[in-house]
Amino acid sequence: MAFTDLTGQTDAKTRLGNSLLGEPGHAFLFVGPSGIGKKTLAREFAKGLLCSHPTKDGGCGTCPNCIYMREHTHPDYRELLLPSGEKNIKVADVRSRILSDVGILSQIAERKVYLIDADGLAEEGQNALLKTLEEPPKHVVFLLTVSDDSKLLPTVLSRTVSIRMVPNTEDEVFAALRKANPDILEEEARLYARFSRGIIGYAMSLMETTWLVDAWEDVMDLILTLPEKSRADLLTETYSFFDEEKEHFLDILALMDMLFNEMAILILDPKSPCLHGEGKKDKMVAVIKKYKLRVSQMGQCSHAVSLAAKAFRANGNFEILVCRMLLALKKEYMNG
Ligand SMILES: [Zn+2]
Repeated sequence: MAFTDLTGQTDAKTRLGNSLLGEPGHAFLFVGPSGIGKKTLAREFAKGLLCSHPTKDGGCGTCPNCIYMREHTHPDYRELLLPSGEKNIKVADVRSRILSDVGILSQIAERKVYLIDADGLAEEGQNALLKTLEEPPKHVVFLLTVSDDSKLLPTVLSRTVSIRMVPNTEDEVFAALRKANPDILEEEARLYARFSRGIIGYAMSLMETTWLVDAWEDVMDLILTLPEKSRADLLTETYSFFDEEKEHFLDILALMDMLFNEMAILILDPKSPCLHGEGKKDKMVAVIKKYKLRVSQMGQCSHAVSLAAKAFRANGNFEILVCRMLLALKKEYMNG
């Protein structure tokens, strides 16, 4: 595995590749949302830092350093991650696993590399690390990963080179999912890719259950049958669907928004490919025709959904915000 085997992140990989060929700094900070691949990229970079013959593409893959890294047994590489179920990495662990080790020379590589999950470092842990970050021994490189760099002390930020990771394109996530799961249905991979907002790890974790595929079916049925429902049905039966999915409410709203976008695309071009089988697409086109839906109405529906999301985030009354949204959607359909 090398940088080229990792999807996207071209800028980050170019910068890391250049530093492997030059004189790398002593502390790098990989910043990006959870699931974007910060640790995966940092581990590849670590392999390049320890490799005897690194290239712009990372470690050579064949020297003893690369082999030890592949087998997770390199004596000059350590990771300090947040133990599952814990809120923070213990300061005692920062001291015993990192600080008391940095002064010892490397065994087989020319450097020692430490990967630290900085999301797990509370202020005390960051402070413990600070002095060593300020004056690291020559042979040491720190790789920190963090999903939100505003949680880090300015003094930590100023000692590190930031490597920002950006969301992948939908096509990149789609390709990565198909590569990891060759049996996955194309339309399902497309759905996961779109819903993941460019975060491959998130798409992969979604695929562990059928929740998204099931919810997409439910949301589609709901939106396609909504105009036929009476006001009373909306406020009881349809509301109860949202109540049962309260825990996933924002995800359901995101799916609704995706569906309104799909419908807008179908209004513009009924032949355009979309996220579902032809059967569902025919139903969507039928609803569009029956209610003479226009793109602007789909925009208004998306707006009603975003208002509900906003009210939910602001801890608004759940029943009121859901019912208001449902009635607004129905009104939009009927204006066609
Ligand atoms: Zn190598």
